[in-house]
Amino acid sequence: MQKLGASPIHADVLLCILCALPTFEALFATVRASKAFHATYVQHGKRVLNSVAFNYVGPALPLALQVVRYDMHPSPEGFNTGPLDNDHNTGLQVEIKDVYPLVNNAKVVAEWENLFSSRKKDMRHETSQLTSLESWQFRKAMHRLMLYTRLFPTDEYAYCITSNSDCVDLNTKLEKELLTQQEFLSDCFTNELEQLREVATFAIEIIRWVDNVDSCDMIASNRDFTDIALSVGPAVILECYKTLGFEPLTETINKLCTDTTPEYFEDKSSRPLLAGYLFKSVSAVLENRGANDHRSVTLRIIDINTLREESCSQCGAESYIGGLWGKTTWDYLSLSSQILGTYLFPSLSMFMKGELHRNPVEIKHVEALLVKTPFKEIYEDIYAKNLKLPAWHDRNDDYWICQSCLTQFINDHLHLWVIMKRKEAKERIANDCWYGYNCRTQVHKLNHAQQLNHLCEPTR
Ligand SMILES: [Zn+2]
Ligand SMILES: [Zn+2]
Repeated sequence: MQKLGASPIHADVLLCILCALPTFEALFATVRASKAFHATYVQHGKRVLNSVAFNYVGPALPLALQVVRYDMHPSPEGFNTGPLDNDHNTGLQVEIKDVYPLVNNAKVVAEWENLFSSRKKDMRHETSQLTSLESWQFRKAMHRLMLYTRLFPTDEYAYCITSNSDCVDLNTKLEKELLTQQEFLSDCFTNELEQLREVATFAIEIIRWVDNVDSCDMIASNRDFTDIALSVGPAVILECYKTLGFEPLTETINKLCTDTTPEYFEDKSSRPLLAGYLFKSVSAVLENRGANDHRSVTLRIIDINTLREESCSQCGAESYIGGLWGKTTWDYLSLSSQILGTYLFPSLSMFMKGELHRNPVEIKHVEALLVKTPFKEIYEDIYAKNLKLPAWHDRNDDYWICQSCLTQFINDHLHLWVIMKRKEAKERIANDCWYGYNCRTQVHKLNHAQQLNHLCEPTR
């Protein structure tokens, strides 16, 4: 019997095996584990790296490589804005130094894809349920967004808050900036531009969600806030989402613009070089092509024909995808309206039964409790501790309720949960007021509110 790797046929087989490996981790483990594989790798390193990179990153690889290369040479001149044939680009070769950043960026894009899929396509799964075409389109658009946010604004000066004294210069800068952006975008097909706009819109939904949950109202107080946030790129936005706060954004801005202060976002002066970030330029390019039509659904990432309305398990009302709440969505997201942000945190107390939400003593206690407790936990408790009222269906694995049912659910149960928590903590509970949660005296008589318990059913 021949030694492994000794004949040319063996070498071909070994090369095929290496090229088929799904991740770089698997590749490097294999190469380390066997001399024969190592020898094959030494001989055909480039081919193997490219093949594994494609297996891992997918058809968005050329774009992904451009992002990585830009990071290595971050100058606008170092980036080739000439025509890029994204799908058949053979000029870009993966090198060993690309692997680490390539993998990191691909992980960010994959997390975004999971998020996008669960909010836009299939709320039942937290991992991506996009078809291979949808996934490819999403990844391309997300990598393109990464690249765009690295390239633009071309000058960090855009982040500075400056006086309007130098208006002439500013106008020239602005014009030049927009032209460069449009030049970059004009290399994209119309569907690619639509999809870029789609992922950017989704990124802004996420920014709004963080703003909602964080309840710092950045968006309300600074009109360029979403533009600034979008411009720092998908990785930072994802970090904000995962930490439910804007610290990663602030840190990035501080690095970009050295004269920023902690009050950077409180300064309401406009940042003209960032206003309408990405959207303005995409629209301009589409306008030039006579293709700026927001109704063109055929160009979207997710095939609209595969989507169906879902119905609420409690009331049966039909709802758009991602508009229902259930096991995968409790922690999650709002869409365009204020949706769930208002549910997770102290403002939940506003939905309490009867007059309770106007009881100044009670509201303070409840808010203090809610700050410490994610809604998911409250929801679990209501079922696990038998607080659920009979009017509500039992849960099963496929239990999804609409916004208004969720509000009603909180209204029906929150006071029961609070009193249960209080009993668990062995707190002293005052005697019940006869009028229970409907008592009006609790609203304006502090003494009364302090001396009696109102988290109970009215008895008269
Ligand atoms: Zn409902
Ligand atoms: Zn009372």
